[in-house]
Amino acid sequence: MSSNSNTEKFNWIQGFTVDFDFMSGLSKSAAVTNCRRVSDLLGVYLDEGATENLIEQGNPLVYEFYEMGAPESDAHLAFGTSITYPGKVGNEYFMTKGHFHTILETAEVYYCLSGEGYLLLENPEGDWSLQKISPGVMVYVPPRYAHRSINTGTMPLVTFFCFRGDAGHDYGTIETKGYRKLLVEKDGKPEIINNPKWKA
Ligand code: MN
Repeated sequence: MSSNSNTEKFNWIQGFTVDFDFMSGLSKSAAVTNCRRVSDLLGVYLDEGATENLIEQGNPLVYEFYEMGAPESDAHLAFGTSITYPGKVGNEYFMTKGHFHTILETAEVYYCLSGEGYLLLENPEGDWSLQKISPGVMVYVPPRYAHRSINTGTMPLVTFFCFRGDAGHDYGTIETKGYRKLLVEKDGKPEIINNPKWKA
């Protein structure tokens, strides 16, 4: 896991611009960069053996994201890009950890810039939906829904996201309970299954 932060270089009072590459999602000047390798995702994937093998075989980068470090205020907007690389752990596609917002009643939008895959949405009551994304497609993530990016393609899956500045990230609920649903590859195609490790 790596990250760095220099929020101060942006003028949150008078406005600013920032670069994001359309294809790669990479930014030369974003305030905060985060990288997640297979070893940062222990327990996220069902297949522990496949997870260990991948770590031994070079511990590949699964996803990274760039964000601006917005002031934690409901007046501001947090935004950035998320890049999930192609690959699989066993029969599960490379995906992000997924998170709820700390302020659960806050929404988000994701706009797909390149690649293909899905956003898997799930609320605490167990309602869920799977949203297919490809370049030019925007997903509205309603308040209360955890969200996870899943790359089912062969290219990096790149999205631009934007949400309320003070919403915050709750990774712990997903780490503890898991997702109720998982997207796995079966006969060469994505298929939703119930997560056998999900804890009520
Ligand atoms: Mn979010």
